[in-house]
Amino acid sequence: MQRILNYINGQFTEPESRAYLDNYNPATGEVYSLIPDSDAADVALAVQAAKAAFPSWSSLSREERSQHMLNVAKRISERLDELAEAESTDNGKPLWLAKKVDIPRATDNFKFFATAILHDSSELHDTDGLYLNYTLRQPIGVAGCISPWNLPLYLFTWKIAPALASGNTVVAKPSEITPMSAYLLSQICDEVGFPKGVLNIVHGLGAKVGSAITEHPEVPIISFTGGTETGKTIARTAAPMFKKLSLELGGKNPNIIFDDCDMENALKTSLNSSFANQGQICLCGSRMYIQRGIYNEFKTRFVEEVKRMKVGNPQSPDVKLGAVVSKPHFEKILSYIELAKEEGGTVLCGGKPVEAGMNGWFIEPTVIEGLTETCRTNQEEIFGPVVTLQPFDTEEEVLAYANGTKYGLASTVWTNDLTKAHRIAAHLHTGIVWVNCWLVRDLRTPFGGVKNSGVGREGGWEALRFFTEPKNVCIPLS
Ligand code: NAD
Repeated sequence: MQRILNYINGQFTEPESRAYLDNYNPATGEVYSLIPDSDAADVALAVQAAKAAFPSWSSLSREERSQHMLNVAKRISERLDELAEAESTDNGKPLWLAKKVDIPRATDNFKFFATAILHDSSELHDTDGLYLNYTLRQPIGVAGCISPWNLPLYLFTWKIAPALASGNTVVAKPSEITPMSAYLLSQICDEVGFPKGVLNIVHGLGAKVGSAITEHPEVPIISFTGGTETGKTIARTAAPMFKKLSLELGGKNPNIIFDDCDMENALKTSLNSSFANQGQICLCGSRMYIQRGIYNEFKTRFVEEVKRMKVGNPQSPDVKLGAVVSKPHFEKILSYIELAKEEGGTVLCGGKPVEAGMNGWFIEPTVIEGLTETCRTNQEEIFGPVVTLQPFDTEEEVLAYANGTKYGLASTVWTNDLTKAHRIAAHLHTGIVWVNCWLVRDLRTPFGGVKNSGVGREGGWEALRFFTEPKNVCIPLS
C-alpha cells in the first residue's frame, strides 16, 4: 500500500515515531494509503529547517522568488490529471470538479502571488515637509499554515503561496483526511528544485501536528482554515504568545431570493451553491430564504431539479455529487437530517444515504422546509448536501433571519432591483456578499468572515500584508 511521507528540508522522511494512519477512499470506504502519524518531534525538525532556510529565501530578489514559484505552478498544471485523480480519490469529490476547479486554482494561487509581488508597493507619509516616513513590509519568519479537507490543494496553496511569495518559509499541515495532493505537491517541489527547507510539509493529526505548529515558539505567524471550534483552540494557544493569526472558519450562509429576481438564474445557481462539492464548501448557501410571492413556484421547481441530480461514483463524468469525505462526517450529516425532522421539518427530497454500488459514504441532496430560523438545524453548520427553505415577506424580516446566526462568512442575494441589492448588501453581516451570482472569486478581493466565521482576511494585498510586518522608518529632511 502506498505510503505518504513528510517533506522536511527537501527530504522525504518517515515520521520519527515510524507510526502511520489509515487513509480512506470515501467512495469505497476502504483504506488505500497510509499517512505519517507525525508529532511534535517532526514539527521541530520542520521548523528548524524552515528557520535555517529563511535568511537565504527572504533575501532572494522578488524575480527569483517569483520564478521558483512559477516553476511549481507550471508543474502543477502539467500534472493536472494525476493531481485531480488523487484529490477525487482522497476526498470523494467528482473527478471533473477537481479537474475543472480545484487543481487549476492551485496553479492560479501560485501564479497569482508569484506575480503579485512583482507589482507590490508601499506607503510614504510626508510630515509637513520636515520628515519622511516610509513603510517597509518585511517577511516575518517561519509561517505555520494549517488547512482543511474540503478543498485540499486549493486551500493549502491559498495559504502557502502568499506566505512564500512575501519571503517567509513555511511549515504546513494538510488535513489528515485528505493528505494526498499535498504529498504530490512536495514531489513537485522536489522535481523543480524548489530550495530546500523553504516549504516543509508535515502530515498527521490536528491534535498532534497542528497543535505542535501552533505551540512552537519559533512560528510567530499562523494561517488556519477549518472549523470554528478548532479556531478557538488555536486562538487560545496563540494569544498569550502574541502570534499573528488569520482564522478562516465555519459558515451558515444565507441565500436570499426576492420575488423580483431572475428566477431561471437564481434556480440554476442555487442548485450549485447548495450542493457543489456535496455541500462541503464553506461558501455554500445552506439557508434559503425565498420571498412569499414566488415561494411555492421556486420550491416546486427547485425540488424537481434536485431530484434529478445524480449521486455516485466520483469518476463518472455525469455525477453531480460524489461521496462525502468520511464516515464520521457522513454520520454527522445524517444525524442533522434526523434532528431537522425532530425539530418539525419536512424533508421535501433526499434525506437518505445512497447505495451507489460502491460501499462508500454517499448522501442524497436534501431539501427541508417548515423549520424556524432559530432551530439548531438553521443555526449550526452541517457542511453537507442539506439546505432548508423558508418564506419571508419583508426586507427587515429576511435581514433579521440572515444575520441571526453566530456565523458571518458569505451571503447571496437575488433581485433585479439594483437599489435594493446595494441596501441589502450593506446590511448583511458577512465578509462576502454575492448579488445575482455565486462563488465568483477574483483573487485580488478580500476573503474572509465576521463573527464566528473568522478573524482577518486572505486574498490579494490582504494576504501579502498579513504575511509581512510593517515597519515605519522616519527620516528628517533637514
Ligand atoms: P478542522 O478544524 O477539523 O481541521 C482543519 C485543520 O486543522 C486540519 O488540518 C486539522 O488536522 C487541523 N487541526 C485540528 N485540530 C487542531 C488543533 N487542535 N490545532 C491545530 N490544528 C488542528 O476542520 P475540517 O473538518 O478539516 O474542515 C471543515 C471546516 O472548515 C468547516 O467548518 C468549514 O466551514 C471550514 N472551512 C472554512 C473555510 C473558510 O475559508 N472560512 C474554508 C474551508 C473550510
